[in-house]
Amino acid sequence: MNAPVVLVPLDGMDARLLHPVAANVLEVFGLVAAVGDPAEIPVEAFDPTRGQYRAAAVLSFLKPCCPEAKRVVGVTAADLFEPGLNFVFGLAERPGRAAVVSAHRLLTRDGRRFLARLMKEANHELGHTFGLGHCPEPTCAMRFSNSVVEVDEKGRFFCPRCRALLVEALKRL
Ligand SMILES: [Zn+2]
Ligand SMILES: [Zn+2]
Repeated sequence: MNAPVVLVPLDGMDARLLHPVAANVLEVFGLVAAVGDPAEIPVEAFDPTRGQYRAAAVLSFLKPCCPEAKRVVGVTAADLFEPGLNFVFGLAERPGRAAVVSAHRLLTRDGRRFLARLMKEANHELGHTFGLGHCPEPTCAMRFSNSVVEVDEKGRFFCPRCRALLVEALKRL
């Protein structure tokens, strides 16, 4: 697989849902994204007292995946956390190669809204891998979201400032 970005369905995440996310990555980043082979999150990443997976442990698992790709983004239906936070929508190396997004708290009966949320959070975490930080612009994909309401409020595109930083980072890819 020669795509620069690989989306990895983790833990039974429906791979078909990742194809529109891949199309979105091409549109927003100008990078071809492929849907990779499904993988299982290692059991060590699971915290039985919390019933959640440690996001950093999932990232460690993803780092050696798809070595030929420039970026690897795991998408899981499992709930993720980091110490000190009740949950995270995702986590990424900043800058780096690996990112993970959780669909767990993005789920809603509205399939279009769910996909839009998934795209926004995938773009947010991918943005981190290109060195972007959090952005105060309300509609920018790099705005930090604490809730799905905040995810719904922002867009899947980058504000002019973040886009300029991204364009520079993409030149170094
Ligand atoms: Zn973030
Ligand atoms: Zn921004």
